[in-house]
Amino acid sequence: MNIAIVPPVSHFDLYGRDAPECGTCEGSGQSSYLHGPYETTRECPDCYGTGRFARCPSCLDGTTWETGDTCPTCDGYTSLH
Ligand SMILES: [Zn+2]
Ligand SMILES: [Zn+2]
Repeated sequence: MNIAIVPPVSHFDLYGRDAPECGTCEGSGQSSYLHGPYETTRECPDCYGTGRFARCPSCLDGTTWETGDTCPTCDGYTSLH
């Protein structure tokens, strides 16, 4: 199993509680997909395998990669975990 690369700022650090369960993987941290005849699992792309996912509140204000901004809250990941 690979070590997950996650945003450096956690939801818990900001709010004192964990981020909500990730809806994409239903909290498992893994998403499954069909690879030919086999079903394979890989790290969930939304929550980086943490099983938790929340949109970064600062990025909702319009901070995006396109403007060249690096969000001070999430360091450009646009999400918290
Ligand atoms: Zn997930
Ligand atoms: Zn952000």
